[in-house]
Formats: sequence, C-alpha cells, structure tokens
Amino acid sequence: MPLTLSRPDLQRTANFIAGEWQPAAPGRSLDVTDPATGGVIAAVPDSGAADARAAVDAAQAAFAGWRRAPAKQRAQILKRWNDLVLAHQEDLGRLISREQGKPLAEGRGEVAYAASYIEWFAEQATRANGEVIPAPVPGRRMFALREPVGVVAAITPWNFPAAMIARKIAPALAAGCTVVCKPAEDTPLTSLALVALAHEAGVPPGVLNIVTASRARTPEVVDAWLDDARVRKITFTGSTPVGKHLARRSADTLKKLSLELGGNAPFIVFEDADLEAAVEGLMQAKFRNGGQTCVCPNRVFVHAAVHDRFAELLVARVAALQVGPASDAGSQIGPMINDRAVEKIERHVQDAVARGARVLTGGTRLPALGANYFAPTVLADADASMACACEETFGPVAPLTRFSSEDEVIAQANDTPFGLAAYFYSSDLRRIWRVADALETGIVGINEGALAAEAAPFGGVKDSGYGREGSVHGLDDYLHTKYVCQGLL
Ligand code: NAD
Repeated sequence: MPLTLSRPDLQRTANFIAGEWQPAAPGRSLDVTDPATGGVIAAVPDSGAADARAAVDAAQAAFAGWRRAPAKQRAQILKRWNDLVLAHQEDLGRLISREQGKPLAEGRGEVAYAASYIEWFAEQATRANGEVIPAPVPGRRMFALREPVGVVAAITPWNFPAAMIARKIAPALAAGCTVVCKPAEDTPLTSLALVALAHEAGVPPGVLNIVTASRARTPEVVDAWLDDARVRKITFTGSTPVGKHLARRSADTLKKLSLELGGNAPFIVFEDADLEAAVEGLMQAKFRNGGQTCVCPNRVFVHAAVHDRFAELLVARVAALQVGPASDAGSQIGPMINDRAVEKIERHVQDAVARGARVLTGGTRLPALGANYFAPTVLADADASMACACEETFGPVAPLTRFSSEDEVIAQANDTPFGLAAYFYSSDLRRIWRVADALETGIVGINEGALAAEAAPFGGVKDSGYGREGSVHGLDDYLHTKYVCQGLL
C-alpha cells in the first residue's frame, strides 16, 4: 500500500548536508521496509565515510555563525520547528507507524511528545545563564560563562524515530551547537521529514545535517565522526554494547558523551498496592510500543499475598489486546521492528519455559498476521536464571516472579548491571520513600506507569549510561563552562 501524505514532499529520500538534499550515489541505497509486511516503502542513501566527513565540514563551517546567533533567534527558529511538527502531526504519525510499526494513535502521540521537547528547549535556549562569582581579592570580576560544546554527532534508535531525534537535536541547537545525525537504519524516513521541517522553520544551512546508512555501513559513518576531532560530542540512544564501543572510541579525541542505553526495569507490586492501578500501570509501561521501550518493565515482581489475583487481572487485559498492523484503527500492538527482534523475544520465552516458567497467555509468534508479530505474553514463575530476567527482551512479554519480603525484592531488583527505570506500587508512605531511595536507577515511578516528560531528566546509571535528556539538565549536556577572570584595569 503506498504511503499517502498530505505533504508528499515530507517523504525525503536523500541526505541533507549544508542545506542541500544530496541523493544516494549510484548503487549506494538502503531499502526502508514496512515491518508489518516486509514490503519496501522507499530507498535512502547508504552513506559512507565521505558523506560523514562532508556533514562535519558543513557543521563546522556553520558553527561560528550559529553559536553567535542571539539565543532569542535560535529560540524563535526552534519554536517555528515545533509549530511545523505539530501542524504535520498526521503525516509524521503515518510515517512513524509505517516504518516502525506502532499503531497510528501511538504514532500521532509520539509526534506530540517529540514536539514537547522542541518547545521546551526553544524556551530553555534563552535561559543558558552563567554565573557572577564573588571575587576572593579586591578589584577582580569573575564569571562562569556557558558555551556550546561545538559539533555534535547524534546517533538514534528506531523505537521512537521522532522523539529520540527531537530530544537530542533540540537541546543541541538551543545551546548553539551544530549537528550531524545518523538515524537508525530501520526508521530513517521520520528523521528526514523532521529535518525537512527544521529547514523550513529557518535552521540555517549546515547547522543540522543528516546522513542515512545501512547497519553494515553504519560503523564507517560513525567511525569517521569518532576519529574527527572537530566532533566534540556524541549523543547516543541504543544498546549498551554499542554505547560502550562509542565510549572507548571517543577516548582519543576526548569527546563529551551522553549515552542512553539498555535497561532491565523492575516493576514491583507490594501487598499493599492498589492492584487495579498496578495492572493499569503495567499495561502502559510494558505494552506501549509493543514493549520496545528502553524504560519498559522487563521483570515483574509480585508479592505472594496478591500474586494470583494480580496475575488474573493482568492476563484478562493482556489477552484482550488487539494485535495487528498500524493501518488497522483497532490495533494496540503492532509488528516488532524486524526479524532479529522477534527471534530474540521467541528465544527468551522458550528459554524461560525450558527453565520452568508457565505461559499464562500468548507465548508464540502470530504467523497468520505476518513474520514480525509476537503475541502479548504473560509468564509466571520466572526467575533470575532466565534470559528474560538478565537481558532486555524488548518485546510484549511480562515475566512474573513471586516475592515475600521487601528486602528480598529490593536485592533482586538491583541485581542487574542496568539502572535505567524502576517502578513500584504501594500505598504505604514510609515504604514508598524507603524503596525509592533503595532502587539503583536513574528513574523511579511510584504508582505511575508513564514517566517520561520533557521537563523531567531522563537517563540511567550503571550499564544504562550517563547524561540526561529533557529538563534543565538536558541543555547542560550540550554546554561547557568557561571561567573568565578580569583583574584591575
Ligand atoms: P543498536 O544499539 O544496535 O542501534 C542503535 C543505533 O546505533 C542505530 O542508529 C545503529 O545504526 C547504531 N549502531 C549500530 N551499530 C553501531 C556501531 N558499531 N557503531 C556505531 N553505531 C552503531 O540497537 P538496536 O539494534 O536498534 O537494538 C538492539 C537492542 O538495543 C534492543 O534490543 C534494546 O535492548 C536496545 N535498544 C535500546 C534503546 C533505548 O531506547 N535505550 C533503543 C533501541 C534499542
């Protein structure tokens, strides 16, 4: 089925470098497919090192002018970008759903979510205040000034193709940085459309550049940026192994890094929880985007006293989820992003069952719908030996584990190298603060399943990375501090 947009020119299939759309060189293209059908939607450039360097040349040339542009001017351009993104919410939502697979309502929701970051950082652009420091000796004036770090390379994942771009590019531009971006190979079209709208909003040539590449050629593009001392910062969302690789490879040029990596979020239901609310929270946190969210609960711990009732309520909700393509208005769970993703989910479920877990609902692929569909699944009797407890499943699988004491469940929740998000449900105020303090994660949800917001700091600890996106901290990551000291004249 062709993709029909009210603005067909938003479906871009070229790199954008120095303010120009630059098509793929002959024989160097990457097919973008619909995960619901496997059908090809479009072809974009399969770029290499030369394209990557050209993007840095453009970003470096544009940096001097962009950093000196008044903050208010940068803010106005970002505000116009926000307005254009919202004005084209339907088209962008369709693009997201088609290339990424999430239901259209979620695609539209992601556009609004992405815009909320652009709007927030448009406002923050004018608030990158420095400090006047009281001098320790007479006659001196001492200042801490905030300056943009320089050219930023943004490498983004496929699970939120609009929001991840907005969360990185908006603060970079607000701070006065220029950007080179490589979107995920599965979902380049949304990123290209966002860049087209940024250009339309008045982002000057060279300030924002994007190159697309296949998974095979991505290392060539990113290595060119890692080796280039003009690139002063890498901002990355994706898997922990790639994040660690970027950290190691950034050492020679000492780039600043923001790494939003994998998670293994615990979701704890205490015996004093409101069970209906806990089920609702888990449905939101676990099954949004088909479970392909880095803050997704990966392990669900339920107190023995309420376990069976909770499982019963949860299974009723999960079994009723409508699975289907984004094009069906009723779909609540779409296809997984690709065959690698479905294989991992299937492997985790089979491993759990082989080690003693019980399938309460789901548990299999749904071949009648297509190759990339997996049934929303609830497992019981999961334990720490199972792959689904140690690795991020990144799919619609909720493994339940019974526990009997607070100390025991905190130890289990923290027994992972990851530390992105954690959730728990309880009505005991003393326990609430005890548990929130004890959880080793960057984000904690208490009686709440939907946590991300543009005004809140999003990021992890341990193997989930460092740096924060959103909030005042999200701008700081793109600034450095210059100390200026003036002596007596
Ligand atoms: P990934 O880390 O492989 O890909 C993310 C980005 O990194 C993409 O743009 C990709 O092209 C790029 N990349 C891949 N290999 C690279 C390399 N050697 N050098 C530089 N860049 C490289 O993640 P994925 O394949 O999309 O998903 C795998 C797993 O990562 C998921 O199962 C999940 O656990 C995790 N993940 C986490 C998030 C998150 O939001 N934190 C998002 C997507 C995936």
